Amino acid sequence: MIYFDHSSTTSVRPEVSNVYSQLLAQQYGNPDSLHALGRKAHALLEKSRENIAKMLHVLPGEILFTGCASESNSLAIIGYALANRNRGNHILVSNVEHPSVMHSMEWLKQFGFEIEYLPINSNGIITPSLVKERIRKDTILVSTMHVNNEMGAINPVKEISEVVHSIPTCVYHVDCVQSFTKIDVPFECMDLATISAHKIHGLKGSALLMKKKKVKLMPLIQGGQQEQGLRGGTENAPSNIVLSKTIRLALEEKEEVYKRVSKINQYIREELSKIKGAHINSKEDAIPYILNISFDQITSEVLLNALDQRGICVSAKSTCSSHQKNYSSTLVAMGYSEKIATHMIRLSFGKDNTMEEASIFIKTCKEILNQYGLSL
Ligand code: PLP
Repeated sequence: MIYFDHSSTTSVRPEVSNVYSQLLAQQYGNPDSLHALGRKAHALLEKSRENIAKMLHVLPGEILFTGCASESNSLAIIGYALANRNRGNHILVSNVEHPSVMHSMEWLKQFGFEIEYLPINSNGIITPSLVKERIRKDTILVSTMHVNNEMGAINPVKEISEVVHSIPTCVYHVDCVQSFTKIDVPFECMDLATISAHKIHGLKGSALLMKKKKVKLMPLIQGGQQEQGLRGGTENAPSNIVLSKTIRLALEEKEEVYKRVSKINQYIREELSKIKGAHINSKEDAIPYILNISFDQITSEVLLNALDQRGICVSAKSTCSSHQKNYSSTLVAMGYSEKIATHMIRLSFGKDNTMEEASIFIKTCKEILNQYGLSL
């Protein structure tokens, strides 16, 4: 099987699953319990938090463990808006965010928040000048993703943060799910940042929210004192403990994997440029991990199924929207035709992909186009 769907999820590294199994068996104590087993779990959990904080160059108290990036996004947006209503009620968000961001924004409207959607440009990014144009004295929050999950476009987060911080009462939330451990993430310019473990060869049900000390949130899950009172419920200690190892291993390989993935990306771009009717939709300066392509001759669903039958896994749109019938809103927002948007597939590469797989992919696409009786 060839797996080109790493933006949806990744395999768990054996180093991570081995430690996780040991922890499940041995460290089942509740970190809030006062006995030895509880104290041990607590110590390991806090050590993990400390290690993660060091790797992100933030303080340990700025790391909140959550259950998934969707939860981190919801807590960042709803938690921040509800806790800071006295500052203003205007929020800016890009028009191509993950559904967990979009739905949180829509949900806030019932409380009187004014949500303004910023259009991405034809390169798939939000420009700092647009944020400057739309930001107001009563804007309390700006939220954009770092790397777009469908196209791989990279938002200029540093420059956007400068505009955001020109309003002293405004904070910047960045969804870093598709960028973290792939490219440098400047956490120093973000007030809230979302990361998910299962996108970086870690566990599903494990994520975090980086929240700078000065930022006040309202909890979404009521309960005990866990996670500074911002997320009630017994800590998932084994998951949270192995998250630091997951991050460390991914960061250690960052440059090497980036080079390997770039070669695969470049090869597929070159080969596709020789096929009639093939389009490369991701821009040249997009992250090499994500390559959005389409063929005039064949729709997304048909191509996805044909590749699937031949053992190649890809996405037709971002996985969280894959059960909705409509086409890619990101491509349409970038100005691509409806035809391209209904014919696109997303390839997303990972650390274990090879050039041989890339070559099989190209060969298979040609076979599929031939078999469907379509011109090459
Ligand atoms: N944000 C982005 C940009 C994503 O691509 C995804 C998942 O695809 C998420 C958030 C949600 O991640 P999780 O599955 O951990 O909730």
